[in-house]
Amino acid sequence: MDLTDPISIYVHVPFCRVKCSYCDFNTYAGLDTLIPTYVEAVCSEITGYKSNSEEIQVGTIFFGGGTPSLMPAKSFEKILSTIESTFKLQSDIEITLEANPATIDKPYLASLFSLGLNRISIGAQSASTEELQLLDRLHTFSHVTQAFAAATAVGFLLINIDLMYGLPNQTEHSWKDTLTQVVSLSPQHLSLYALTLEHGTPMQARVRSGQLPNPNSDIAANMYDHATSYLETYGYRQYEISNWAKRNRYHECKHNLQYWQNLPYIGIGAGAHSWYKQHRYSNTKSPYGYINRLIPSTNTNTNTGNKYPGSTAMIQSEYIDKTTEMHETMMLGMQLVSDGVNHSAFRSRFGIALSDQYKDVLNQLSLQGLIHNDINNVRLTAAGRLLANRVFSEFV
Ligand code: SF4
Repeated sequence: MDLTDPISIYVHVPFCRVKCSYCDFNTYAGLDTLIPTYVEAVCSEITGYKSNSEEIQVGTIFFGGGTPSLMPAKSFEKILSTIESTFKLQSDIEITLEANPATIDKPYLASLFSLGLNRISIGAQSASTEELQLLDRLHTFSHVTQAFAAATAVGFLLINIDLMYGLPNQTEHSWKDTLTQVVSLSPQHLSLYALTLEHGTPMQARVRSGQLPNPNSDIAANMYDHATSYLETYGYRQYEISNWAKRNRYHECKHNLQYWQNLPYIGIGAGAHSWYKQHRYSNTKSPYGYINRLIPSTNTNTNTGNKYPGSTAMIQSEYIDKTTEMHETMMLGMQLVSDGVNHSAFRSRFGIALSDQYKDVLNQLSLQGLIHNDINNVRLTAAGRLLANRVFSEFV
């Protein structure tokens, strides 16, 4: 990594009011009282990255979870000022809050906006009350419209709405209705995710026991197709398999682009993952264990001292060699449906032409009609998007 290249910072907030039926993220209900100590631990982990010899620039910060919007504004203030005193923030930094629409109001959003947060991602999931209940979401669609109006009123110009499709009992009609209602708000960004039945979740148990039907993959594919053409009609440009941005590139999520371009990021918090200094590493998942490892007064762990390149919370680390980094760059970059992987960026990063490194794979995928390979970049075709996982696996 060149010192002039900006990194990204992800801060994981592992607290939620309730655990949603489909969720297997590292997040816990009923632990809100831990928030002040957790914030202290987060600040301690950030400070551990301080180094006299480096002036690392940060281009994006993302507060994800969990439900970061359960934290009071003063927690964000503390974390942001710690980041600012540890790293160098770029003047056009993007700072995102992932928010549950039932947990935010105008005064709260105004406080966050005044702290420098400038992007908000609202977990709407659906406009249908039945579907929101099926997912065990605490909010209704009116919370979404209120949250959207409040965020706009206080000055957020980058608002994303997350939606889910392919739910048990969801019809194509209800999906179209959800899209219509969400597009009428005119958010700058949309993320659409197909439901995955995760192992050990209540939703998976209900499907297995026959209480709910298995999600139908053909119907889910139709929903995706409909979304693709519908959103295009309304001026949204698809730039990644699951992501659309309104009108121009300024509305794309810079933080996620960092992941897809396989550029460095530091994950802070319980269970957070990092890609930094040629290592992929992750922190302990338990919020108690995380606090225990980072705050000396609570530390009963003998395992002290920072571990290169992470913190005392790091429990696993792997050195990534250049060949693996190349494969990962291809697999991640191919998710960018309009940009794909750029030939000249690949050459300047790895010192070898992409067309030489992957000659046989590129020829084979081109012949099968799954990729476009022109002088600028390599990207998926419409057929390739439907078989995206197969295409990605060819680069391993
Ligand atoms: S709000 Fe999000 S992170 Fe929390 S339980 Fe629900 S899906 Fe999981």
